[in-house]
Amino acid sequence: MISYQLARSAKRKTLAITVKDGQVFVRAPVYVCQSKIDQFLLEKSHWIGRKLKQSVNNTLAKQNAFCEDEGILFAGQTHTLNYQSQQKAPVIATGDYLHVLVNQSVSDEHSPTLVKNALLTYFNQIISEKLALRLPYWIAKTQLTPVTYKIRYYKSRWGSCNSKQQLTFNSLLAMMPDDVIDYIIVHELCHLQHMNHSADFWQLVAQFMPNYDVQKDWIKRHKIGLSVFN
Ligand SMILES: [Zn+2]
Repeated sequence: MISYQLARSAKRKTLAITVKDGQVFVRAPVYVCQSKIDQFLLEKSHWIGRKLKQSVNNTLAKQNAFCEDEGILFAGQTHTLNYQSQQKAPVIATGDYLHVLVNQSVSDEHSPTLVKNALLTYFNQIISEKLALRLPYWIAKTQLTPVTYKIRYYKSRWGSCNSKQQLTFNSLLAMMPDDVIDYIIVHELCHLQHMNHSADFWQLVAQFMPNYDVQKDWIKRHKIGLSVFN
């Protein structure tokens, strides 16, 4: 039997299961009997197993994130993090490596945090350069023009478009391949016309990027790798 934490609430009308950090949580209405809960867990056991595995992989990826010799997504490819005690720039990408300058006086346990910050700054710079090239291209092609755009680090979104027609892009787009960055640009530009994810919105996206499913799918498949900064 799966071990889980149970929370009963008077407001709930149905049973619900969530998996977080390798733990199973069950939320239930006050009057549901134990055998109903057991049966529900049994029915969902495949789903729970899959979610637990994902959750464990995710936790492992986060624990090792930014340590030396660990992998990190950059421009759509997994690069190996390499700590350097002497180099001219804080971060240098060569081949399959991301070389990050780490001061030798910094203790081992603090270096991942410093590496994380150095990478964020580097990713921000990379994505500014890419957007400076790709955004004008897509504006010309779509005839959709934002008032301004900026780049910042977001925890859980790749871009945004507000009612003032200002676009924001996540610095972490630097982790993605160019075609996926293009998809995010087109996605946000199309929000200038449709401030929602309606059928009309997706039709507009498809007009400029007929195979956008490929890019959406790339993001889905690299969910864990893309989430290490969170
Ligand atoms: Zn959107």
